[in-house]
Amino acid sequence: MNSPLIKIDDKHLPLYRIVWVSDVPHFCGEDDCLHEGEYEVRLDVDESVWANRVERDYVIESLNQWYSGESSDEAGPDWV
Ligand SMILES: [Zn+2]
Repeated sequence: MNSPLIKIDDKHLPLYRIVWVSDVPHFCGEDDCLHEGEYEVRLDVDESVWANRVERDYVIESLNQWYSGESSDEAGPDWV
């Protein structure tokens, strides 16, 4: 299946690599946490990328479109 690329943070990644997307902002209580308030996007390898709220919503929308078979030729999200 042809999987579109999406951009999260500074990375372009194919949708098929995404395992899950956090529904709530990250909070772990660590003083030096770099990702508090961001949304974790888990990849198929032991790795995550971090998205802000707008990016997170775009990821979910893109995944939904992909799984539902709609082909979107849009170049990117609205905020670019
Ligand atoms: Zn943390």
